[in-house]
Parts: sequence; C-alpha cells; structure tokens
Amino acid sequence: MVDRRVCVGTTNCVEAAPEAYDIGDDGVAEPLPGAPLDAIFAGARACPVGAITLHDLATGQLVTP
Ligand code: SF4
Repeated sequence: MVDRRVCVGTTNCVEAAPEAYDIGDDGVAEPLPGAPLDAIFAGARACPVGAITLHDLATGQLVTP
C-alpha cells in the first residue's frame, strides 16, 4: 500500500516501475492494478521515505521496506 500521509511525491516509484505506480492528480503515488510482483517491489525499494509497504497476505508480516 502507499501511505498517503508519508508520500511526498518524488516519483521515484514511478520511474523505477511505471507499470506498477502512477502519480494521482493530488501528487500522491497510487498503485496500479495487475502489476507484476517484481515491479511492485522495485517501486517500493525506490521510495526514499518508506511510503510503500508490502505485507505477506498469508502471515500479515511486513515484507518491505
Ligand atoms: S517514491 Fe515514495 S514518496 Fe516518491 S512518489 Fe513514490 S511513494 Fe511517494
């Protein structure tokens, strides 16, 4: 998920994974549906403020950052 309170609109995630993230009209990143997992992770790793968090659906455990 993208934490809208943390995202500062640097666009790093979009540059790293344009198939997985876009910037909304409000300047905050939003995930795109159907993106490949490697792109989702690449965007999350590119975020300088940790606004993108990914959790294991089976365990609920934080996977990244
Ligand atoms: S890299 Fe992080 S701070 Fe920058 S737009 Fe994406 S989610 Fe927001």
